[in-house]
Amino acid sequence: MTDQQYPEMFSVEQKYGAWLDDEEREQVREVKEFVEAEMIPRRNDYEGGWHKDADRAHEAIAEAYLGLTELGVQRAPIPESAGGLGLSNQAVNAMKEEISRSDSGITTALGKIHWMAGILGQARNERLMERFIPEVTGDSPKTATILITEEHGGANIEDGTQQSRPIKVTARKEGDEYVINGQKKWGGAGGPPEVFDTVFDDHLGYFVITNMAPEKGEEGMAIFHVPPDADGLQFSEPIQKAGHAYTDRNIKYTFDDVRVPEAFRVDDPDRPMQAAHITHGAIMAGGKLASAATLLGSAHAAMEIAMDWTADRTIKGKPVRERPMFANKFGELARDIEGARTYYMTVGGMIHDREAHGALYERPLVGRAGAARSMAADVTTDAFDTAFQLMGSAGFAYEADLDKLKRDTKIVQLWLGGSQRDRLDMARAYHDHGWEAPEEFSWHYESEEAATEGEVTSDD
Ligand SMILES: Cc1cc2nc3c(=O)[nH]c(=O)nc-3n(C[C@H](O)[C@H](O)[C@H](O)COP(=O)(O)OP(=O)(O)OC[C@H]3O[C@@H](n4cnc5c(N)ncnc54)[C@H](O)[C@@H]3O)c2cc1C
Repeated sequence: MTDQQYPEMFSVEQKYGAWLDDEEREQVREVKEFVEAEMIPRRNDYEGGWHKDADRAHEAIAEAYLGLTELGVQRAPIPESAGGLGLSNQAVNAMKEEISRSDSGITTALGKIHWMAGILGQARNERLMERFIPEVTGDSPKTATILITEEHGGANIEDGTQQSRPIKVTARKEGDEYVINGQKKWGGAGGPPEVFDTVFDDHLGYFVITNMAPEKGEEGMAIFHVPPDADGLQFSEPIQKAGHAYTDRNIKYTFDDVRVPEAFRVDDPDRPMQAAHITHGAIMAGGKLASAATLLGSAHAAMEIAMDWTADRTIKGKPVRERPMFANKFGELARDIEGARTYYMTVGGMIHDREAHGALYERPLVGRAGAARSMAADVTTDAFDTAFQLMGSAGFAYEADLDKLKRDTKIVQLWLGGSQRDRLDMARAYHDHGWEAPEEFSWHYESEEAATEGEVTSDD
């Protein structure tokens, strides 16, 4: 669709107006216009086209990332007093929804910086904020990486009932340093600093979720900043994936006696539950709300592509989309997208009212953030299926963009424990479960060999 053809219902006011003030609407509108003019026409470039040409992908991603950074997306959630735009959760997620109409991988890359800012903010770690926040409030694109998942299972670690006992990456205090050991997997953007040169000005490092004392459950958790060039930090080659081919460099990490100074501990050692709160709140719940926005941006794109194509395609002289059976499908899809958007935006508003809804890391908001993501995931699955059905073979062609958008978007419903876990978190907001981890719950490695392979069993 060309600019003029985007119908009124696609405007910022109609989509997000209920939750944004005038200034926020204007900022989201600027991002939307950039996405429509510069990014949507280049969707397939972001994975290097049909032949996955790395240079073509990196060039396109770099241009998009720079443009979005100049529009303030990177600094959007950071308070104005610290040089950011100070936007609400809803305004930032509206931007993410718009960017994901073009490429959910680029939204994900930007989200890493928002994650980092959220972690430092929730930790109230002034020292690290002074070090990192000025890096991301300017116009130069940066990246960072948050490492939670391990080889033996991400969903276990992200399962609040297991109280973080499955985390096997450990840290121990030695003098005025911490020594980190173990393996993490998947978190992107990962690799030696120079591999990011074509897109980012700098990689700000790795924020690693560890458990220093698994027997204490969540009280043993600690989060560390590890610089990309730390001795003992090893990177695997990138994992080849179905989507996000060049926008998220996902790898395996080995921490072999990685030493970091005391000052690189992100959470406050005098507040034993703080690392758990950051993980369940800023990382998991915040990440799931952003994922809901990301998914719905892709779902909306699928609807647009199908609506656009069926405007010109005729059956017996009438545009396909005007035939009642097809119009009915579009009506249903638009209803579901709007319903899922209304839900994630409402939950985004609840974050700003702690007195009424509790902290972001507490069960009500953790449950609702999961519900928002899983609802958006279901709608998105249906949106792509519907778009393919409505377009016939034309939707199956690579140039229709549906294929790439669909592959990219699948991971958004799988990560952060997956949308099955989302449902369990919502149930847990309403009632305790029999599968709650008992006090004496203990994880153990079956054998030395299993420990190295990442296998873990429970005697529960
Ligand atoms: C492109 C990409 C980007 C990623 N980015 C990051 C990142 O930035 N940082 C990071 O730390 N990780 C990242 N991940 C990892 C991702 O978050 C995990 O892979 C995900 O949480 C699921 O973990 P798993 O693959 O080990 O699945 P498993 O834990 O093995 O789970 C397998 C399946 O079982 C389900 N399941 C597991 N336990 C339960 C349960 N108790 N109840 C119901 N269902 C359950 C899961 O939902 C899943 O469907 C990324 C992965 C990809 C592919």
